[in-house]
Amino acid sequence: MLKVQDYRPQPFIDFTQPENVAAYQAALQKVRAELVGKHYPLIINGERVDTEEKLTSVNPCNTCEVIGTTAKATIEDAQRALEGAWEAFETWKTWDMDARARILLKAAAILKRRRLEACALMTLEVGKSYAEADVEVAEAIDFLEYYARSAMKYADFGAAETTWFEGEENGMLYLPLGVGVSISPWNFPCAIFLGMLAAPLVVGNCVIAKPAEDSGMIAGFVVDILLEAGLPAGVLQFLPGIGSEVGEYLTTHPRTRFITFTGSRAVGLHINEVAAKTLKGQKWIKKVVLELGGKDALIVDETADLENAVTAATQSAFGFNGQKCSAMSRLIVVDEVYDAVVNAFVERARALKVGTGEENANVTAVVNEESFEKISQYLALGKNEGEVLLGGEAPGEWGGKKGYYVQPTIIGDVKPEARIAQEEIFGPVVAVLRARDWQDALAIANSTEYGLTGGVCSNDRERLEQARNEFEVGNLYFNRKITGAIVGVQPFGGYNMSGTDSKAGGPDYLANFLQLKAVTERW
Ligand code: NAD
Repeated sequence: MLKVQDYRPQPFIDFTQPENVAAYQAALQKVRAELVGKHYPLIINGERVDTEEKLTSVNPCNTCEVIGTTAKATIEDAQRALEGAWEAFETWKTWDMDARARILLKAAAILKRRRLEACALMTLEVGKSYAEADVEVAEAIDFLEYYARSAMKYADFGAAETTWFEGEENGMLYLPLGVGVSISPWNFPCAIFLGMLAAPLVVGNCVIAKPAEDSGMIAGFVVDILLEAGLPAGVLQFLPGIGSEVGEYLTTHPRTRFITFTGSRAVGLHINEVAAKTLKGQKWIKKVVLELGGKDALIVDETADLENAVTAATQSAFGFNGQKCSAMSRLIVVDEVYDAVVNAFVERARALKVGTGEENANVTAVVNEESFEKISQYLALGKNEGEVLLGGEAPGEWGGKKGYYVQPTIIGDVKPEARIAQEEIFGPVVAVLRARDWQDALAIANSTEYGLTGGVCSNDRERLEQARNEFEVGNLYFNRKITGAIVGVQPFGGYNMSGTDSKAGGPDYLANFLQLKAVTERW
């Protein structure tokens, strides 16, 4: 019997060991030989379908290099995918929960064997350093292992508690919703892509998965693993394409039962709006699960271990170039220790190595031209909204390679209402804010519309307890970095404009994709 208690997160690879670095470099060579230049077609009803137009993945650290292509779905493809998925649903929903779960477990086993290949592909496609890619593939495996086991609690009639009543049998049945669309971002193109489709699938839904435009190859790689693990035709339709075209078509379609979306606040709110409109022939109110952006803050007070705080700030701000929804983009320091903390933070960040993912640099290029342009605009704005203490430029090349390179940037004495302290930048750019004292720091932290992650470095017990209740974020960390949530350990999801707080990798996540039926028999 599968039990969630038996789940254990994957350990991470230690890249201080030379043999692990060598293994990673061998994987990069293998991927260059076997995957670079590959084309991933759509998969509809188990068949590979090609399209006239294609989407191209480019190495962001060396934009002259094409990594590969995927097909680009049309509206007709999306229509066929939706119809086919409803047909497949008729059978898939009747499978035993443990049989479906076994497919996830087998996929996890295959992904474990191909772990370094998946990592190396992301290094080339989105510019992840070795450790960043590794923790992501570990997370992807964790999602499969965790959701497979947690599905068991929804398997039986009577699994949900009801109260005894004389002369009757009462109980509840968890039933899948039907066919849904899963739309994912490029920044965790393996783990989030996989987690967002595995969860609805394991409890009996069929899914149309639309990966982000920049990261279709790792998505195709992962889908192949799920098919190898035995997923039947039509249950998962793979539909790379343009968000505003096929994504929009699917989210507005009356036969879409649920939407699970991770991405920007603007697109998420738009989806929320269009999904709420009822169309002719629509039989249900669409279920919408949204995980959006953040403007995440770390507070450092005068009681903190300052060395530890600076480490936490550096890791949280610059891991994967600040391109994590959980990344620290505001550092809030109380006046008494402001200079000491900020000076040490700047020196630590100055020592970060910029370069390519393949070189395993600490800070690599940002994902694409649109991001690069957007971050460049914020850098210009930042010069007026504070004092540039480090970086401030986006050179667009590094070490002789053309790429979307942005310098690690720290801007000091930013006012809480400044745009760079309020808006998500999604790059290696930190706004530092000076607080009068602890209470002021907490008020500043809560002064944005977002509420995803946050942290406090302090040794004052009362303050930590106050933050536990009053810091408005879905994921709160004390005396450590604010990124790197582990499946099952730190269920993940944001408050306010950061999302619907669905808590991916949490004990109730699968319930988002189920409906309950209460059944009574009078004896
Ligand atoms: P994005 O919103 O630009 O795109 C996300 C996905 O939406 C892509 O697949 C895109 O093709 C699709 N899309 C775009 N327009 C659409 C439309 N009109 N209809 C349907 N689909 C559409 O986001 P991104 O740049 O890929 O990702 C970065 C964002 O994601 C950041 O804001 C980040 O904070 C957020 N994010 C949040 C979490 C979380 O768990 N809260 C995790 C990762 C990323």
